[in-house]
Amino acid sequence: MEREKLEFDVLFVGAGPANLAGAIHLKKLAQQQGRDIEVCIIEKAESIGAHSLSGAVLDPKALIELMPDFREKGCPIEETDLRDGVFYLTATGQLRLPYTPPYMHNKGCFIISLSKFCAWLATIAEEVGVNIFPGFAGVEALYDEAGRRVIGVRTGDKGVNKDGKQKSTFEPGVDLLANVTVFGEGPKGSLIREVGTKLGIFAGRMPQVFETAVKEVIEIPAASPFLTSPFTVLHTFGYPLGLNTKGGGFLYRMKENRVSLGLVVGLDYEDPVLEPYQEFLRLKKHPLIADIIRDGKVLQQGAKTLAAGGLYTMPQLAVDGALFVGDSASMLNVQRLKGIHTAMKSGMLAAETILTAVGKGDVSAAALGGYRVKVDGSWIRKELHAARNFGQALSQKGIAKFITLGAQFVTGGRGFVDPMNIPDDAATLQAGHFRPPTQVQDLDGKLYLDKLTGVYFSGTKHEEDQPCHLLIPDTEVCVTRCWDTFRSPCTRFCPGQVYEMIQEEGGRRRLKLTPSNCLHCKTCEIKDPFKNIIWSCPEGGGGPNYSIV
Ligand code: SF4
Repeated sequence: MEREKLEFDVLFVGAGPANLAGAIHLKKLAQQQGRDIEVCIIEKAESIGAHSLSGAVLDPKALIELMPDFREKGCPIEETDLRDGVFYLTATGQLRLPYTPPYMHNKGCFIISLSKFCAWLATIAEEVGVNIFPGFAGVEALYDEAGRRVIGVRTGDKGVNKDGKQKSTFEPGVDLLANVTVFGEGPKGSLIREVGTKLGIFAGRMPQVFETAVKEVIEIPAASPFLTSPFTVLHTFGYPLGLNTKGGGFLYRMKENRVSLGLVVGLDYEDPVLEPYQEFLRLKKHPLIADIIRDGKVLQQGAKTLAAGGLYTMPQLAVDGALFVGDSASMLNVQRLKGIHTAMKSGMLAAETILTAVGKGDVSAAALGGYRVKVDGSWIRKELHAARNFGQALSQKGIAKFITLGAQFVTGGRGFVDPMNIPDDAATLQAGHFRPPTQVQDLDGKLYLDKLTGVYFSGTKHEEDQPCHLLIPDTEVCVTRCWDTFRSPCTRFCPGQVYEMIQEEGGRRRLKLTPSNCLHCKTCEIKDPFKNIIWSCPEGGGGPNYSIV
């Protein structure tokens, strides 16, 4: 098929904070040097920010470096007065920690909505001359004839029906060619999986590991006591996950009587019956949280994974013709529960490296390897080094967790063992602990939502008549080994109710998929114990439509 080809100097794949900051920085640096450089960003969401979801407490240090006049330029900030409270929850009570660990202090940080923030960064990027194409999903990396150098990406065809046939609306994808391609697809990107496997960027690293967050923005009554309480930032641990499963809750104050409420669950959990969405509902029903959100209503809901592995899982950052930034490159600081600032900084350091490499006409892995040197010389490395064993400590059970954390605290992150091992998230489920899953009751469709209503509140839409973007290579495994061993955990860990196990006449089981519900969180590809789910990009423009989360 004849495809249109478009050429750029630099192509950024994904319009998250890493790539947006990188593209802005690159254009500004080029302009300062009197150079003209064609920069393009593609994004699979229908609009910029529509697939961006985070806590989100922003440490502004990268933003200040990128744009010291960010306030004058209208940066959307929800809250600047950050006062922290950390609470241990039991099923019915809470205990406020008298001491907040220094890495959890958020003074000087801002609460933002990541979707609003990315939409705003995109307007700045356009002002400095970046070409932005939302609604275009990169589906395939392109290589030179030798198959070693990345030369761009192909965007997905549009107008293909579920049988793979062209509809009257068919539009072939475009080949976007570039001297340098920057992959900032967020956690578990589908192109970085392909490029990484082909070029071996994950070889010798510990496995990439993740956490899944379910989050809502809730409007609470103007008279809510929380709006005058001593805290604007709450973090919780203990109930509902307990001390043997990594994760915890957060509640942040936003503008206009709104709060951002979420639960993060480490995907190294062992219990096949655990359902992150139900745990989120349990957190909402806890008295501490229920009192704050009483008489409120959900405005938006969403779910996303975050890359929680840190320094020891960071892949090779450059190959011939390409760089990897942000969550795609494990830049998140799990100790500080923050990754936007490190993502932005990584994009900016990539931009500086690219400008030099393109100027010299050498975009080999060796020339682009200066990016790793810059990362290692920056505050990203300093932060991630201090947190290098933190996620592993949180994965310890019961009291061992606190002893390990304490040892790391007094040894600058080293602890008893350095490096601590990181298991693959897909390998941690323990077979045979089946019990009927308990569902949270009394959902009202307004403040307490079932999963499907939650999908509605995420604004998720896909073209229905298109090939299924969730590929299951061996459907027999689903109804035999996976059912027998784990009772189909995909039906629980998916926050979009995409997977259902149906019993047909004659007793035969069948896994039924509803891919149009997909929130693009990637939990299924990460946590499936048989690695039998491959997430691929659906037609560009499909997916959630976040605007305030
Ligand atoms: Fe997330 Fe996979 Fe479910 Fe989509 S199908 S919502 S990516 S777990």
